[in-house]
Amino acid sequence: MPHGLAPFASIRAEHFAPAFGAALKAHRDELDAIAANPAPPSFENTLLAFDRSGREYVRIESLFYNLTASDTSPALQAVEREMAGPLAAHANAIYMHAALFGRIDALHAERGALNLTPEQLRLLERVHLDFVRAGAKLAMQEQQRYAAIMERLAELSTAFSQNVLAAEAAFRLVLRSEDDLTGLPGFVRAAAKQAALEREVNDGWVITLSRSLIVPFLSFSSRRDLREQAFRAWISRGEGEHDNRAVIAEIMRLRLEQARLLGYASYADYALADSMAGTQQAVNDLLMQAWVPAKQRAAAERDALQELAKAHGQAETIEPWDWLYYAEKVRQARYDLDETEVKPYFSLERMVEAVFDCARRLFGIEFTPRPDIAAYHPDVRVYEVRDSGAGNKVIGLFLHDNFARASKRGGAWMSTFRLQRLGATAGEGDVTPIVVNNNNFAKGAPGEPTLLSFDDAQTLFHEFGHGLHGMLSAVHYERLSGTSVLRDFVELPSQLFEHWLAEPQVLKRHARHYRSGEPIPDELIARIKAARTFNQGFETVSYVSSALVDMALHGKTAMDEFDPGAFEKSELQRIGMPREIVMRHRLPHFQHLFSGSFYAAGYYVYLWAEVLEADGFGAFAEAGNAFDAALAKRLRQCIYASGNSIAPMDAYRAFRGRAPVVEPMLKQRGLIDDLAAAAA
Ligand SMILES: [Zn+2]
Repeated sequence: MPHGLAPFASIRAEHFAPAFGAALKAHRDELDAIAANPAPPSFENTLLAFDRSGREYVRIESLFYNLTASDTSPALQAVEREMAGPLAAHANAIYMHAALFGRIDALHAERGALNLTPEQLRLLERVHLDFVRAGAKLAMQEQQRYAAIMERLAELSTAFSQNVLAAEAAFRLVLRSEDDLTGLPGFVRAAAKQAALEREVNDGWVITLSRSLIVPFLSFSSRRDLREQAFRAWISRGEGEHDNRAVIAEIMRLRLEQARLLGYASYADYALADSMAGTQQAVNDLLMQAWVPAKQRAAAERDALQELAKAHGQAETIEPWDWLYYAEKVRQARYDLDETEVKPYFSLERMVEAVFDCARRLFGIEFTPRPDIAAYHPDVRVYEVRDSGAGNKVIGLFLHDNFARASKRGGAWMSTFRLQRLGATAGEGDVTPIVVNNNNFAKGAPGEPTLLSFDDAQTLFHEFGHGLHGMLSAVHYERLSGTSVLRDFVELPSQLFEHWLAEPQVLKRHARHYRSGEPIPDELIARIKAARTFNQGFETVSYVSSALVDMALHGKTAMDEFDPGAFEKSELQRIGMPREIVMRHRLPHFQHLFSGSFYAAGYYVYLWAEVLEADGFGAFAEAGNAFDAALAKRLRQCIYASGNSIAPMDAYRAFRGRAPVVEPMLKQRGLIDDLAAAAA
């Protein structure tokens, strides 16, 4: 297939179990061969061989999990449940392979004397740590228990994700009359109509729990009763039918046991030991720096909303299902800005051109559509990526999957079908990456363009930033490739890239009215910019509360009689959560924490990376040019291309010339004022 993309059309769910079976066996044989090598361990015969092993297994696993996330089916879900245990068992078999670890451990012990390149040394240290953190040093009996825990956790996170998807699919609010639609602007009606058609509801409009539909509905519907109904369904996903609470309790008990086996007092201690932040204290310190001013800001926002509600004849106090609705009205009144005025300038098509253009101007890479290459769903667009600075050679394949559908999980994410690596020996060729971006935009009605909100456009840029991290990667080892970095570094390339959307010159060039082609007016840009820190009290409170609850939850050192509902409630009380705001993700549907372990005790990473990103973009601001060539070159080299080949703080310093400071992040969120503004 072109550039190594799978032949999707001929893949069936029933192919996966036998394909996995064969690939896992082949991988185990490769590992046994490395371990049994009679030659003494060397970097090449052990580390390089390990990095290159199991490629068929990784290929099938990536293919499988991309499909289950982006276009699943009951048949794929059944395979997912069936394979969760065996795949976790395979991971255990790798990291508990005593003879293999013996060779790696021996090399690690003498690493200073091996004459390795910095990248080789990094690989050795990284892989050694992976083994240790996965239980390689445990005694036999402990290893057996550890393996059982990991296998059970894999089953539980699968169950958790499937419950959330089922809960979202089960809900629909059908609007039947003009009365039900009161307040909804054209674009929300169009998206709701489209959702209805997709669900074969021909005589109405459907609001689903997809963020791109529910959030506009809560922002515009004048029907307080319907808002309440939709809101309650939205925040109780994973409770009631498709209940996740028992799943969470079991996950938490097992994670604590896992951490203890490895010698940590809590799961958070274990998770943070391999992060930039390092400790719970460092994380909580950063979160509190945002939490305190955010609550003050949110209280002022609430007072303004309450006043407006009163003016609209709402005698009752503001409830959570009122916030977005009145916030939208305040936004319109204060900034004369409403979504229906903004969205026509942000058609999906134009914004896709914008991300490609920014990547071209910064990094000299070109995206060429390849409509002849079929992906797994007709909505997915496939592009070839070329590097004009390297003789126009193909550096990867990019898949853009932008629309919400019932078979796709919620949210937005980047993933890979294949990781980048350069040939590491004379005979070995380079492997180019295959990257996918998933979004969940509500598709425009047939014949109509898909119009994005500014936030949606920001999400598009965000995921594309992750995509660039995967596509521009230029390292020799897959373990160090692209986004395989420490998790509090991984949101830096994505969040940083959002800044280019907000650049006036980018907006003038690409934010064009979908009908007239007219560029967005300067004064509208000014109003969008002025409104950017609007409602940041609310946004920061809903995000930081989720991160604080995550940290407290994973910081627990006892899980006896643990009740997720009671815990969430008491934690929110402890931190003084405003009653009108809910966590961005409540525990029963907090996929970051429970659909896998990557963001467990790690929801803070967005704010951590925001410190780096706000401070980092300052370099372009100081240069007075968002496309400064020398800076862009350094950005590519140090941040987007280096993967995990350098320690993250070293990579950041190499780009910025110094360590990051927190203030630009707080300023960006409007939580502290400029010194100049304070003096004025
Ligand atoms: Zn991200």
